[in-house]
Amino acid sequence: MTSLTIRRPDDWHLHLRDGDMLRGVLPETSRDFARAIVMPNLVPPVVTAKDAAAYKDRILAALPAGSDFQPLMTLYLTETTDPADVAAAYADGLIHAVKLYPAGATTNSASGVKDINKAMPVLEKMAEIGLPMCVHGEVTDADVDIFDREAVFIDTKLDPLRRRLPELRVVMEHVTTSDGIDYISEAEENLAGTITTHHLIINRNHLLVGGIKPHYYCLPVAKREEHRLALRSAATSGDERFFLGTDSAPHTDPNKLCDCGCAGVFSATNTMACLAHVFEEENRLDNLEAFASLNGPAYYKLPVNEGTMTLTKQDSPVAYPKTIETGEGPVTLFDPGFPLYWSAS
Ligand SMILES: [Zn+2]
Repeated sequence: MTSLTIRRPDDWHLHLRDGDMLRGVLPETSRDFARAIVMPNLVPPVVTAKDAAAYKDRILAALPAGSDFQPLMTLYLTETTDPADVAAAYADGLIHAVKLYPAGATTNSASGVKDINKAMPVLEKMAEIGLPMCVHGEVTDADVDIFDREAVFIDTKLDPLRRRLPELRVVMEHVTTSDGIDYISEAEENLAGTITTHHLIINRNHLLVGGIKPHYYCLPVAKREEHRLALRSAATSGDERFFLGTDSAPHTDPNKLCDCGCAGVFSATNTMACLAHVFEEENRLDNLEAFASLNGPAYYKLPVNEGTMTLTKQDSPVAYPKTIETGEGPVTLFDPGFPLYWSAS
């Protein structure tokens, strides 16, 4: 197969930041994707409907002329989030999910939830109205090894919460382990998972062997090869519980290449080319549309995009930029470590 036409894809987990960075990276997503679930971890975070409406306006204002890209807004769950504000924002069509960050789990997550009991009124309201909770599924306890944090989160946080509130619709984001894949695969309802582009391609050796590769450092951190293979199997299976969330997360090069470098991989520009490569390697190109364009809308109860994207395999490698220039500085694009032959149009 050298050409594949699919419904236009969506990104169900994206960081757009704000200001000059937003203006720099947004065209990289809006070129290929019709919609994206936009993460609320700004400084300060997007906590109320009012915050989300203002942020949405800033995103729309930053779009390239003529773009019909739709940002799907989210709220950052805190221990003081007002259930009525959340419900009204969902009824208005303004927000499509609420994000649970365990406090301290990743970039700008200090305002996250420490005591889940304090968030229960909001979660109960969300369960009642069918509003999904997106969760960064890692514990933050200092005594839990960074490579075990997803598995421990499932056992000690996520599963107890889902038993307590089975009607809550959950998206376990950026799944990185076979534990996560198994947990989602065993769920009968109200649980789905997003998988990033880079976790389908790199394992922890790519990050750490032969010299540390700061541009492969992200959270959750890349795991062992057996986990990467489990992710690939799930993503390319067509199983409707798994869909694309790139977690494309720009940081400028100076913030990546320093004594305490930021976590995040920026993959918006070449995600579809990378995915076509992965799905072709797995002989599952026929399931790329399900992963990138169909399963996400189905879980979020949104229509599939009307438009299409055609992926074409070229005879020679397609040149992608090494960095994206933004008003805040250069952002290095994810390098899959192999030539990309697919182009999207
Ligand atoms: Zn993220």
